[in-house]
Amino acid sequence: MILHSAEFIISAVRLDQCPTSGEAEFAFVGRSNVGKSSLLNKLLNRRNLARISGSPGKTQTLNFYHINDSFYFVDLPGYGYAKVSKQLRAKWGPMVEEYLIKRDTLIKVIQLVDVRHEPSRDDQLMYEWLCYNGRQPQIVATKADKIARGSYGKQIQMIAKTLKMDPVASPILLTSADTGYGIDLLWSAVDHELQA
Ligand code: GDP
Repeated sequence: MILHSAEFIISAVRLDQCPTSGEAEFAFVGRSNVGKSSLLNKLLNRRNLARISGSPGKTQTLNFYHINDSFYFVDLPGYGYAKVSKQLRAKWGPMVEEYLIKRDTLIKVIQLVDVRHEPSRDDQLMYEWLCYNGRQPQIVATKADKIARGSYGKQIQMIAKTLKMDPVASPILLTSADTGYGIDLLWSAVDHELQA
């Protein structure tokens, strides 16, 4: 995949504001501070493109970026501030939930987790909820540069175990927005989904 263009389109606050072109979408989810904006900026080769992503308590928006005039990356609000399932649903917003369940053009959810830590309760709930709704996400572990290369395998296994997933059937990708590690593989995964 060669990146030709990335254009911010809209911060949607309602589903009827989402693009209607019918092009494929990839939604990025993760708890606040997981490194979502940094990863999007790295993927899109920008310093500050994903600047609008909401911080806890702010208006919850779906931020659409049009890539190569042919598909979209959608930056969803961070969810880490909710402590339990009910609060997660209430605070994270029915709109985001509805988008994830119903959006026809959404071909893959990319769920980010911090490679250094065991996925949080919210990460686990989100993963389970997405799978339950038929949206098994691509798990991407962020901030690879913060751990030693020798512990990559162990951390990935720990994440897979906590999320109760099979890392062979559903490989976890490891990235660093600082060094660019794994960014090419993430682009390949995106490409693969677009071809599928
Ligand atoms: P968001 O809330 O998920 O959008 O997270 P941000 O992208 O704002 O990142 C949160 C913090 O983690 C910031 O201080 C970033 O500089 C830092 N960060 C994000 N990605 C990386 C990474 O790959 N490596 C390192 N070392 N720090 C990162």
